Amino acid sequence: MNLIFLGPPGAGKGTQAKRLEGLHGIVQLSTGDMLRAEVQGGTEIGRKAKAVMDSGGLVSDEILIAMLAARVRRPDCARGFILDGFPRTTVQAAALDAMLAELGLRIDAVLSLQVDEAELTERIAGRFTCAKCGTGYHERFKQPKVAGTCDVCGSHDFIHRADDKRETVAARLEAYRRQTAPILPHYAAQGLVHAIDGMADIDTVSAAIDAALQPGTHEKLN
Ligand code: ADP
Ligand code: ADP
Ligand code: ZN
Repeated sequence: MNLIFLGPPGAGKGTQAKRLEGLHGIVQLSTGDMLRAEVQGGTEIGRKAKAVMDSGGLVSDEILIAMLAARVRRPDCARGFILDGFPRTTVQAAALDAMLAELGLRIDAVLSLQVDEAELTERIAGRFTCAKCGTGYHERFKQPKVAGTCDVCGSHDFIHRADDKRETVAARLEAYRRQTAPILPHYAAQGLVHAIDGMADIDTVSAAIDAALQPGTHEKLN
């Protein structure tokens, strides 16, 4: 099964994608995580991407398409993948179509998470992740069960993303509205889009996603 999560920054894409990964044995491909690893590693891609990411803009299509094309060909994607943060522009969506056609694959569903702007800002401001395993948390909405200890790996190190500050969030929301939202009609025309109310609590959103992914579901909206 190959899925795409679409939604503005902070909508809950990573949170929900990680859960589906375990449930369906498919891999989450987060282009944001891949880029942060490149920055961390001080690679050429990382050096090019850093300033753009810090300002809340989008990294060039050329870099993203090359990165993702290499990634979907790896053997761990054989049972399927969840795209989290890609495609983000109409150019990337067209490149994805070409990549999938070449590999004889297709997208089975696009999950469009809908969350209003005030809520997004609050989610991003309180977001932090485990430095070791990448599990996401929130200061108010999803604290570790034992304060200061990761539920999944037991690590005590947590990080706040450099771009998760109020000034940058506005630019990222604007980039989403201008460049990413316009790709929805492309998938809606193929009947692939499931609109999910992302305002509910994490478990309720998970249940809505599971319902949308049931075979034979006809609630395909945009
Ligand atoms: P969020 O979790 O807030 O949606 P991501 O972790 O997906 O954000 O992305 C962080 C940053 O990485 C983006 O602001 C952008 O600069 C860059 N980025 C991630 N994916 C893409 C993409 N597909 N195209 C261009 N830039 C991207
Ligand atoms: P995205 O990948 O779309 O940028 P995340 O999955 O990182 O979003 O979620 C953003 C923040 O909001 C995280 O701190 C996460 O723990 C929290 N969060 C995710 N889903 C919900 C929800 N349904 N209700 C409240 N907080 C949530
Ligand atoms: Zn951890």
